[in-house]
Amino acid sequence: MKLVRYGRNGHERPGMIDAQGRLRSLAAQVQDIDASVFGPAGQRWLRRLDPSSLPLVPGRPRLGVPFVGISKFIAIGLNYRDHAEEAGMPVPTSPIVFTKWTSCISGPYDAVLRPPGASKLDWEVELGVVIGRTARFVREADALKYVAGYCLVNDVSERAYQLEQGSQWNLGKGCDTFGPIGPWLVTRDDIDDPQNVDLWLDVNGERMQQGNTRNMVFGVAFLVAYLSRFMTLLPGDVIATGTPPGVGMGRKPPRYLQPGDEVTLGSPQLGVQRQRIRNAPQRPA
Ligand code: ZN
Repeated sequence: MKLVRYGRNGHERPGMIDAQGRLRSLAAQVQDIDASVFGPAGQRWLRRLDPSSLPLVPGRPRLGVPFVGISKFIAIGLNYRDHAEEAGMPVPTSPIVFTKWTSCISGPYDAVLRPPGASKLDWEVELGVVIGRTARFVREADALKYVAGYCLVNDVSERAYQLEQGSQWNLGKGCDTFGPIGPWLVTRDDIDDPQNVDLWLDVNGERMQQGNTRNMVFGVAFLVAYLSRFMTLLPGDVIATGTPPGVGMGRKPPRYLQPGDEVTLGSPQLGVQRQRIRNAPQRPA
């Protein structure tokens, strides 16, 4: 099932996309798309639900982040062999783990704001893994049972902050609006094989990235098991699993995002996002 949240930022309501691609409301059934919906009990309930019994939502409301309760937004670096090559870095022998601050999360069609002083704003289309139940020291063979589903993530990155500010990457990964998630949370039963998901990304209509998750260095099950050795993964936590080749930093010459640019990214299984780049306002919140 494709779960969504629709409506004004901060006032989203729960819904789903039916087999015909129409938006239907779940507001009479559930408070929000939280762990009570995408966790194991909720998914058993969803499988018994008849989408045609749900009211259609009129118009084309904004879609927000498709679920709530994200306590951690973890990301994996250089997880595609060909992307490591374009970055001029060795293929990792163990996962490169960094964090995106949860305050960076934004809706799939919301603007991406370029921070003051940023000059190397870049794109990264990724498969996002959403945890469905508490995972701690899980075995790789069991790991997918802890996954609620999958979503599209744009791991927006400011390369100067990421690579020229010290030994870690986090400062260039978690600025406000650097974490578009959605439009859908696709439940695990709708994705036959997380290692066969196509991903693409365009800038101003020009194809920049094209890849398939089969080319990951470390697959989804391994990553869930690996991370659960170092932290307790909680329902709602998101793992951005790395990006295929074609980022702006890897182009010759490099191509970075400017205000006015439009980034469109998608996957046949996960839906489409679109973001306009704007300058961030230079004022306190
Ligand atoms: Zn990334």
